[in-house]
Amino acid sequence: ATPTAIMVGTGRGAGLGILIKNGEALERAHQIGRVVFDKTGTITEGRPVVTEIVTYGGWERGALLQIAAAAERPSEHALARAIVAQADAEALPGTSTEFTSLAGQGVRATVDGRAVLVGTARMCEEWEIALSSAASQDLARLESEGKTAMIVAVDGRAAGVVAVADTVRPGAKAALARLAGMGISVALLTGDSPRVAQAVATELGVTEVRAGVRPDGKVAALREWRANGPAIAMVGDGVNDAPALAQADLGVAMGRAADVAMEAADITLLRADLNGVADAIILSRATMKIIR
Ligand code: ADP
Ligand code: MG
Repeated sequence: ATPTAIMVGTGRGAGLGILIKNGEALERAHQIGRVVFDKTGTITEGRPVVTEIVTYGGWERGALLQIAAAAERPSEHALARAIVAQADAEALPGTSTEFTSLAGQGVRATVDGRAVLVGTARMCEEWEIALSSAASQDLARLESEGKTAMIVAVDGRAAGVVAVADTVRPGAKAALARLAGMGISVALLTGDSPRVAQAVATELGVTEVRAGVRPDGKVAALREWRANGPAIAMVGDGVNDAPALAQADLGVAMGRAADVAMEAADITLLRADLNGVADAIILSRATMKIIR
């Protein structure tokens, strides 16, 4: 496109709250044939709240929430913030030392000399923490309800499960249907469990879902899709999405995304409205038409 067309397109984007990093990004957007969405914080609002706490081995609810929140306090993850907010609301203070965050899995920390893990079932498996059949059943039930269930383990034993629920953004279903109407296929790519991902996908009418995917797995999935199909846009919000945003033909960061996600992205949607993805592609199609 001509420099003038690029300037006009970029300016129009800005008016719609679509921040386009450069002219190349605006030109590339018209080729997109598939849009891949991260779930947490992208399709959903990313403001999960604690909805249920289950305990095992004689743990009391308040004590479990307190130790889980203490472990999660240094984490910036939306799930961590939900647990900490619940503990704060119940006036349960505490912090951790030796905190480690494992992207797409959970956290490990020391709280009052005890080893605490909060995270996925797979993470428990890796740290050789056995899950009772009661815990496995609770996980299955909560996840089939679309909730993200995290296991809390203390000193190598599962002490409880904390479930959080996150709301799908209003208008998400319509925004995805609009892309489909433009001849663009839509997929969900998430670190969350298959059951939770499926519950959300069903709600949205999305049939292509890859769940339980770690950050490096997101990059691999995109590579595979790119090799076997049309140009891809990846829409994400988190620190863990940055590599995938960079790998995609077009990286799109949601408004209020992590700084590294916005840096890796070609486009940032300031209004946190998923319609911005279709708008950006339409803008690009219009811009490219000017020179044809
Ligand atoms: P998404 O791809 O949907 O944005 P993430 O990759 O950030 O999700 O996280 C994947 C999964 O890892 C979460 O659903 C959760 O089970 C677990 N997880 C990630 N961070 C944390 C944390 N700070 N505390 C507990 N669990 C976590
Ligand atoms: Mg996310």
